[in-house]
Amino acid sequence: MIDDLDTQDVRELKGVGDAMAEKLAKLHLHTVQDLLFHLPIRYQDRTRVIPIGQLRFGDEAVIEGIPIGCEIKMGKRRSLLCRIKDSSGTLCLRFFHFSAAQKKQLESGKRIRCFGEIRRGSTGFEIYHPEYKLIGDNDPHADSDQLTPIYPLTDGLTQTKIRLLCEQALERLTPYNLKEWLPDNLRQSFSLPPLDDSIRFLHHPTADANLEQLRTGSHPAQYRLSFEELMAHQLSLIGKKIKAKEDKAIQVTASGQLATDLLEQLPFSPTNAQQRVFQELLSDLKSGHPMLRLVQGDVGSGKTLVAALAAAAVVNAGYQVAIMAPTEILAEQHLANFTQWFKPLGLNVAWMAGKLKGKAREAELESIASGSAHIVVGTHALFQENVHFDRLALAIIDEQHRFGVHQRMALREKGLKQGFQPHQLIMTATPIPRTLAMSAYADLDCSIIDELPPGRTPVNTIVVSDQRRNEVIERVKIACQEGKQVYWVCTLIEESEALQCQAAEDTALLLAEQLSGLSIGLVHGRLKAAEKAEIMARFKANEIQLLVATTVIEVGVDVPNASLMIIENPERLGLAQLHQLRGRVGRGQTASHCVLLYKAPLGQQGKERLSTMRETSDGFKIAEKDLELRGPGELLGTRQTGLWEFKVADLQRDKALLDDVQKAAAQLHQQYPERVSPLLTRWLPNHSQYLNV
Ligand code: ADP
Ligand code: MG
Repeated sequence: MIDDLDTQDVRELKGVGDAMAEKLAKLHLHTVQDLLFHLPIRYQDRTRVIPIGQLRFGDEAVIEGIPIGCEIKMGKRRSLLCRIKDSSGTLCLRFFHFSAAQKKQLESGKRIRCFGEIRRGSTGFEIYHPEYKLIGDNDPHADSDQLTPIYPLTDGLTQTKIRLLCEQALERLTPYNLKEWLPDNLRQSFSLPPLDDSIRFLHHPTADANLEQLRTGSHPAQYRLSFEELMAHQLSLIGKKIKAKEDKAIQVTASGQLATDLLEQLPFSPTNAQQRVFQELLSDLKSGHPMLRLVQGDVGSGKTLVAALAAAAVVNAGYQVAIMAPTEILAEQHLANFTQWFKPLGLNVAWMAGKLKGKAREAELESIASGSAHIVVGTHALFQENVHFDRLALAIIDEQHRFGVHQRMALREKGLKQGFQPHQLIMTATPIPRTLAMSAYADLDCSIIDELPPGRTPVNTIVVSDQRRNEVIERVKIACQEGKQVYWVCTLIEESEALQCQAAEDTALLLAEQLSGLSIGLVHGRLKAAEKAEIMARFKANEIQLLVATTVIEVGVDVPNASLMIIENPERLGLAQLHQLRGRVGRGQTASHCVLLYKAPLGQQGKERLSTMRETSDGFKIAEKDLELRGPGELLGTRQTGLWEFKVADLQRDKALLDDVQKAAAQLHQQYPERVSPLLTRWLPNHSQYLNV
């Protein structure tokens, strides 16, 4: 009978009592198998002695030589300096704590071997507090014949101790007691080395191992483990999707008269991409199981219309639809659109937001609960406890990034009460990089509106330093004199909203002085909804030529005659947000321009970001770059960080693996379903928390 390592408690190892077990538990190390998966974060090469003349700053190295002089230096901190010489050069050891005996020993002129990090000190290369020992003629030539692993630690646990424990764990490892869940054929087709070999190697790479490869995580043994871990994540998402799809949802069998009527009253016809995506939605709605679909499309691609068509089909079948947006401004914009489109067709559109209070709120709640509201538009407030729907069959969520897996789950809960699940349509204003789409969103089906409505002109983007602000202002003047309209966007992200509005007010005043004669408007988040609406309406009617705004205009504003946008301090914004903002121009017939007026000097990252904006207007490329520069945590918001806690994998580093991971996961799921659950247990001990909501 084989005693699997995942059932062997760490206490079975020599030197682990209750106290040590408790310390290990802080690192989530409970079993012998856990220790095996507790991989070194890096390695030291103590397998050879490096000539002093070949050292590079920052190296960690073993050196050997004769002390040729010791002195105590006073300076800011008293220290003992000892110069060591070998045949290629000299270097100083520096000790801030030392004893007389130590000094004496170093003055004895006996050969020593030291290990430490090479720093740049006042005497040239130095090692602070090296590990060192006296060396006799009969000592071995090196400290080790393998690379030395450095493990993640916790209080009260030393490298030496954890090494001893991992050593013992490795002694117990056989090909039989650590299960290989990846079948041979799968491992062969993706060139993955066996699990036990990989683990053994990573704890103890041989002296000839490629340290650079190990450092960048590209060694096959590391690939192998990242691959398996990513597969486990993928499988958990596949499982979640399948589970969600087992639920019942109402069937909508036809697009219906309402959608036809809606299209008829529009001044334009849908693009091919819009039609195709609408058909994809319809086929989900027919299935009898909840739709879980993400619609991606670049800014301006017309996602709202596609959502409205789906809403029309569901209302036509006799059910309610909810549309949620992450901010009040965006929600108001949807309210305006949906009211304009559906009121003439005899539908009731209700409104729900946090700020809605008192009698007005009661009335809306009542119309939602009684079912007299066909379509409900709002913010997160829509899905609060006290909002009861009569027969909610479709939830449309705009802007995926701020709406995570957990919110999707909460929505599903609401459906459980009414006996059928609402279909979910999620629209993202910012394209999701493939890396993320394949991981965080693998539980969703995906449609892409890959076509812009006709008549859009590409926006020419210019990057200008604020030292040339006056030229930019001159440019605004000329544009306005030519009858064009202009946005001037003020940004200030780190500070409070109040400061942001203040900045916009100040800018508006300054611009009014320099551009007297122009009609200038100002919008920011602190204005009352009615005031905002009035200013936007005047801008739309071309009564305002220059609109000074905070980033509130990021969403929802549509003024085709506006063909110039100035963004101040664009270096402070994420690429996705800049892309959104820029999407407000280029909606009409004239050539449009976007001026990124940055504050000089720009850092390296800032330069890279702004030149990305100048070079491309492809939302997908921009999103990839954003991910590369900022990492997934920031892109997704903190709500989803749970999805990003990998043991060995790193999405950015390992993104080249994702295609294969996806294929392998699908294959395992189909051919070896019994292996899925043990893999999840190995890599995602908390996976049930995602699955069983
Ligand atoms: P987004 O995908 O960024 O949410 P919207 O849905 O806000 O885009 O659409 C942007 C603008 O394009 C809106 O004014 C909308 O009315 C208009 N629009 C949508 N579809 C078409 C189309 N097929 N032809 C022309 N204009 C369209
Ligand atoms: Mg939109």
